[in-house]
Amino acid sequence: MPSPAGLFDEESRLKAIAAKACAENVDGLLDSLSGVLEPGQEPMVRQKLEMMPVSFRLVYVEAMLGNSLASSVKAFCSECCGYDRESTGSCVCKGCPHWPYRPYQK
Ligand code: SF4
Repeated sequence: MPSPAGLFDEESRLKAIAAKACAENVDGLLDSLSGVLEPGQEPMVRQKLEMMPVSFRLVYVEAMLGNSLASSVKAFCSECCGYDRESTGSCVCKGCPHWPYRPYQK
């Protein structure tokens, strides 16, 4: 029988697999936003989703749902730095209003 830690690892692994499968499906992500997008907004959102790495899509969707300012900053900074986590965390644009909140700081 697996240890509780082993079960947690397996659960985390399965959640990660499900999230990745979900993130790869742009149409499914757009469906999850259907209640919040304004008329004419979907093509722009689709274009962004298709252009960004899959691993950044869920944060972007969370931001677009309008429920998380933290996700909004994370998505914005990630796009600003070409989806490079190292560059985002070490951003030197200290005049940017997002700078104190930028993700991936060390
Ligand atoms: S803090 Fe840096 S990475 Fe974030 S939006 Fe501003 S300039 Fe871009």
